[in-house]
Amino acid sequence: MKEYESLSWYAARIKPHLPKEAFKPVPSRLLGGLAFLIVIVAGFLAIGFLELNVWFNLLIAIVLGACYASLGFLGHEILHGTVVRKPWLRDLLGAITFWPLCTGPSLWRKWHNMNHHVHTQDEHKDPDAWISAEQLAQKPFVRLLYRVPLFIRASFSLLSLAMTFTAHSLRMFTIYIKDFNPRNRPKVWLQFILPWASWIGVLLWIGFANWFFVFLLPLLIANFIVMAYISTNHRLNPLVPVNDPLANSLSVTVPKWVDAIHFNFSYHTEHHLFPSISPKYYPLVKAHIKQNWPERYHEMPFLKAMIALFKTPRIYYQHKELVDPRAGNVYGSLGNGLDPDDISYQNNLQVFPSEGKPSNHPKV
Ligand SMILES: [Zn+2]
Ligand SMILES: [Zn+2]
Repeated sequence: MKEYESLSWYAARIKPHLPKEAFKPVPSRLLGGLAFLIVIVAGFLAIGFLELNVWFNLLIAIVLGACYASLGFLGHEILHGTVVRKPWLRDLLGAITFWPLCTGPSLWRKWHNMNHHVHTQDEHKDPDAWISAEQLAQKPFVRLLYRVPLFIRASFSLLSLAMTFTAHSLRMFTIYIKDFNPRNRPKVWLQFILPWASWIGVLLWIGFANWFFVFLLPLLIANFIVMAYISTNHRLNPLVPVNDPLANSLSVTVPKWVDAIHFNFSYHTEHHLFPSISPKYYPLVKAHIKQNWPERYHEMPFLKAMIALFKTPRIYYQHKELVDPRAGNVYGSLGNGLDPDDISYQNNLQVFPSEGKPSNHPKV
């Protein structure tokens, strides 16, 4: 085997072992979405009409946030076309499920399906990949942020997960809107404006206090849940020259009931290998991967992945390593020396020559 193999190389070896049904859409996944919608409507009615005390409202807001996140995971699945095949219905259901996260289906398919999936962990083309030391060197303002000690940066990053999805989604809109055919742009704008307009309408209708509990706080909670997964998907893996899902992705493990309410989103390597089959079949795909390439497959408990993220810096150095530019410490990535049970680093690397530390690595 080569150092990296392509998506199609792996897929061709597993596909013959999967049942035919695995390649058909699974509309019954919508029943889960319907259950979350019913809980959301009940939460709205309770907060809007029952004048509950603040603790009950807080509890309901947490449940609403969890429901918005789950709908987002279902939306991700729907917009890959694994639930219904008709494009208009796929986009309509995708728009509804992504409504709380204020992300339109056309933007999501462009950003996620056509760019993140096609160019996963490509330094320049993956819109979700973390930047490299070379890219950081071109951004003097961002470099200033990296003068803050790693512990403080990591704590801030952890807290900011509560808004990163929304912030990144807004950024993706500004980046990709110009790439849409001018004929389609009004539709993409409408998909962007309508969710925000509706939530502002709700604010004017029910007042800030209730709006805080039905939208703002649940949005922060949903952001945190969704981003906690997304941050484990690839950020411990190296940047790669070939889209090799075993090298560039991590699957996390969570309790079965969590997989049930999050539509198997934890199976991320499996998802990159077969984005167009229902996540319902990912446990089967996982079994085949582990049977064929156990030494290449990356998997760890969700909490362990979060701790590893907290303890490692988020700047890539020479594709396979992670560097803390402030301290000059260099950490491995998954498959390249990173041991999540015992995180260690080499120190005294001068990443930015102008900042005056001795260099024992080539200059960036
Ligand atoms: Zn991914
Ligand atoms: Zn996907």
